[in-house]
Amino acid sequence: MGRKFRAFISWIAWPGLLVLCMIATDAGFRLGRPVAAFYVTYAVFAVAVLLLERCMPHETAWLADDGQIAADVMHTLVSNSAIQALIGFSGAIGISALVTGTGVMKPGIWPHHWPLVLQIGLGLIVSEFAMYWAHRIAHEWTALWYFHAVHHSVGKLWVVNSGRFHFIDAIKSVLPGIAIVLAMGAPMDVVTWLSAIGAFVGTLTHCNIDMRFGALSVVFNTPELHRWHHSRVLREGNTNYGENIMLWDWVFGTWFNENRRPPANIGIADPMPASFRGQIVWPFVKAFGRRRVAATG
Ligand SMILES: [Zn+2]
Repeated sequence: MGRKFRAFISWIAWPGLLVLCMIATDAGFRLGRPVAAFYVTYAVFAVAVLLLERCMPHETAWLADDGQIAADVMHTLVSNSAIQALIGFSGAIGISALVTGTGVMKPGIWPHHWPLVLQIGLGLIVSEFAMYWAHRIAHEWTALWYFHAVHHSVGKLWVVNSGRFHFIDAIKSVLPGIAIVLAMGAPMDVVTWLSAIGAFVGTLTHCNIDMRFGALSVVFNTPELHRWHHSRVLREGNTNYGENIMLWDWVFGTWFNENRRPPANIGIADPMPASFRGQIVWPFVKAFGRRRVAATG
């Protein structure tokens, strides 16, 4: 690959992939099949990211097999299923109509008359506030950290472990954001859009592609920012909690980026079981096990 062409791709890859995914998602809505279109788009997108990781990796050392592919995929499937089931359930019973109809929230608190793009923007800002604190608390409250530590225990970042979340951690992270927009009366179309944006941006945060971001990292949660978030150094790791946008990191003083390469040696201090089953059980034992002092001491 020519040097100039590679530099061009490194600038265009992140925004380009996201814009293409948004166009495909929009087409899905226009065709009346947003969920099916999302899955097809996501599959094509994932293959493109995997190929780019091989062609132009950010860290060559991260191309090596860490023996965690099966565990990563299992966590992704279980966590996503749990979240999808809860979102579907919430939508099916009509939390939105229920809450607004019973006067808990006044009908019309959600600006249904706004153009869809502004409603999605509002949904992002509101849901990110909840997700920011859900994420930050998981770093600052020990019992919740053990569940989130499954995600941070990876020794490398790549597309396959972007969905590696303990299912308790995944539910805790996503549900508050969805609940708050549903409680405000947002339509399911907005929730679907927010879910799609979260899936595409979230997957890209782990991608091991040599990319440039410039000012994009001021506004969005880019891979550059998320690599700091996985640092073993607490000053670097306890930052950049935003899932999609960095607004609340700016407001609460946790946005972090420095003009040097983020560390390649990432992970956590505690040893994590290698198996999926071990990783599901581990946080419960650490957080609630009677002998955790003896075990960790
Ligand atoms: Zn984290």
